[in-house]
Amino acid sequence: MSDFAGKNILVLGGSRGIGKAIVQRFAAGGGQVAFTYAGSADAAAALAAETGSEAIRTDSADRDAVIATVAGRGALDVLVVNAGVAMIGDPLTFDPDEVDRMIDINVRGPYHAAVEAARHMTGPGRIIVIGSVNGDRMPFAGGAAYALTKSAVQGMVRGLARDFGDRGITVNAIQPGPTDSDMNPADGPMAAAMHGFMAIKRHAHASEVAELTAFVAGPHGAMITGSFQTIDGGFGA
Ligand code: NDP
Repeated sequence: MSDFAGKNILVLGGSRGIGKAIVQRFAAGGGQVAFTYAGSADAAAALAAETGSEAIRTDSADRDAVIATVAGRGALDVLVVNAGVAMIGDPLTFDPDEVDRMIDINVRGPYHAAVEAARHMTGPGRIIVIGSVNGDRMPFAGGAAYALTKSAVQGMVRGLARDFGDRGITVNAIQPGPTDSDMNPADGPMAAAMHGFMAIKRHAHASEVAELTAFVAGPHGAMITGSFQTIDGGFGA
């Protein structure tokens, strides 16, 4: 594959899970890939060595650090904001600071990263945020705060697509359903309940989400913008 040969690509949150699969996919396509991580230095170093990509430590909760990292990559062809955290549980027990940190990582980080990327893009760039089907549907208790962050992604995608469309820059969300990762293991305690909401009753593989991301980021994605590409096995149907 050489569908991303020579492309300047940044993946925010690429050390594990879906982000790791996205880094692997772009690198396999010949892209010049950099990715950020926060806590998983060993995993990040291993992935960088495996793929020939560059690992950059940047906490997505730190707005100014995110902006500086994006600006430091210059004229990106592709920005993917994958970094995300999930708090699922009784909202009455949540630490408000942790809720606000989730909002920082899942909402403020993607917004400021997207705007900064667009500031430096010189061609028909691609901005992709990994949202969630929970932006559309939250069918169980305990997910209100997480769902609000993924619904917020939808609003920013709609608006930024219009802000940058005249420059040929597309802005989209990829919305996975249950996907096997550290965040949501296929054999985790919630798995059976999640499969109950799905038409295809299994977790997705991270590589399946990465392949959809690559399609939207690639040459065939030029007319896809302001959209939410859902890959959820029918969770939201
Ligand atoms: P994982 O927890 O498996 O991996 C999360 C990744 O994001 C890691 O690489 C982690 O890096 C990075 N990350 C987390 N916090 C930060 C931070 N503050 N700064 C920089 N990087 C950070 O999650 P998934 O792969 O499952 O999820 C990836 C995205 O997909 C998230 O946005 C999530 O909301 C979304 N999603 C996941 C679904 C699922 O079922 N798995 C379903 C729908 C959406 P590090 O370890 O280095 O901190």
